[in-house]
Amino acid sequence: VSGRPAEPSSRRIPLPVPSRLSRPLWEATREHVLKLQRCDRCHEWQWTPQVICRHCYSRELTWTKVSGRGTVYSYSVVQHAPSPGFETPYVFAIVELEEGPRMMTDIVGPGALEVSIGDAVEVVFEDFSEVTLFLFQRVPGG
Ligand SMILES: [Zn+2]
Repeated sequence: VSGRPAEPSSRRIPLPVPSRLSRPLWEATREHVLKLQRCDRCHEWQWTPQVICRHCYSRELTWTKVSGRGTVYSYSVVQHAPSPGFETPYVFAIVELEEGPRMMTDIVGPGALEVSIGDAVEVVFEDFSEVTLFLFQRVPGG
């Protein structure tokens, strides 16, 4: 993938450990793509990963690429690091994707601390040696 920094992030924060259920997500983020489960039967999206569809209980779920665009549903500015490695202040948020699901995430990048509810955001990726995290940043003018 072009544009990917050669060196992995040096931030020392707790990283997610891929499970059997979430592995397709982390394989996609490695390629700087955000994928969520979508039901083959009722076509609803869902987050977090589940064995069955929350809407119709189908087991026919397909990991499908999302737009990566959304809006800030709620947020809080974290002043006290939950563990060493976090640089404070930072913005913890719930982002509502265009596709509907809401994801817990951090808002990063320019103007992150001036974020407001309803701001347009887009996914960005941070590579660590173990895993690639998804985060969101404000869309200029959004
Ligand atoms: Zn369904």
